[in-house]
Amino acid sequence: MNKTSLCGLSVEEIFKIIQPGGFTRAHALKISNLIYKRGARDLSAANGLSGKLRNFLSQISQTGLYPPVSSLLSSDGTIKYLNRTPDNRLFETVLIPDKKRNTVCVSTQSGCRMGCSFCMTARYGYHGDLSAGEIVNQVISLNSGVNVTHVVFMGMGEPMDNPENVLKACDILTSEWGVAIARRNITVSTVGITDPVIEFINRSECNLTLSLFSPFPEERVKIIPAEKAFPAWKTIGIMKDHSLQKKRRFSVAYIMIKGINDTDRHLAGLIDLIKGSGIRVNLLPYHPVPGDNNISSPDDRMMYFKHNLVNAGISASVRRSRGADINAACGLLASGLEMGNILSNNEL
Ligand code: SF4
Repeated sequence: MNKTSLCGLSVEEIFKIIQPGGFTRAHALKISNLIYKRGARDLSAANGLSGKLRNFLSQISQTGLYPPVSSLLSSDGTIKYLNRTPDNRLFETVLIPDKKRNTVCVSTQSGCRMGCSFCMTARYGYHGDLSAGEIVNQVISLNSGVNVTHVVFMGMGEPMDNPENVLKACDILTSEWGVAIARRNITVSTVGITDPVIEFINRSECNLTLSLFSPFPEERVKIIPAEKAFPAWKTIGIMKDHSLQKKRRFSVAYIMIKGINDTDRHLAGLIDLIKGSGIRVNLLPYHPVPGDNNISSPDDRMMYFKHNLVNAGISASVRRSRGADINAACGLLASGLEMGNILSNNEL
């Protein structure tokens, strides 16, 4: 008999599966607390559950929690984890500790099928969606000893290509009965697949960021092929339409490549596209993938963009790069996975 994985279920769904055994919603709440707040991998040894409930659970369910198989520590404290699903699909997770915030960058798919040219995950190919439980497990099974304050869906995969599992994971991560992280501290990234973006905005209050690259469709489509079917202006229009809700933050991520998308023409195009929308711009350094001779825009160019955006009334920031030495930075996840080059530096 296939046992149900509890990680990935809402408290009501847990209640539904234990109700036939005569158990109550209060019991379901205890189980969800053990899984989502304490990361208990084995409920047969868990305090707070009766022997009868533990016995019932062991016959029909498993926690569905599993630790990463290996990890790499960066010189800046960033940690990259390799995970393997029970059916052998690989994906990576990154923990970015900082003074006041500890951010986990989760994957939503093993690989990706969007084919963005600056991204190593695209080269790895698509190996399947991750379930809501497999997404949440990345936050609660790191054994890092740190209190996770922020989650970003910016790891392997396009979240809006796996929207139901992403929405469910957001619900579990933000609910009081779940991991209980503030909604404003969760950000989902997308290349802008229109219908799931609308669905996400209607059903979740988490933040959304669009990976832009260029304000010009004819340039963006060369880097982000999804532009052809899902133009960025459409996603930005949807964000604008909802920006008055004030429940969440909308932003665009703008990776800056020297001489490619950091000219004054690009700056003017970016201002035209974003001005008056309430959308924030995050400027990010570029990390070259193998075989690419392009380099990141220098710091002073990134600051120039920031100052001009701010002068145009657009909220903007320059993001520091983290974990580049272990290929954990933006665009570098899955480096080496296609060659079976599994992380082996278990330093934790
Ligand atoms: S940038 Fe994101 S959407 Fe594009 S290929 Fe990489 S993981 Fe997929």
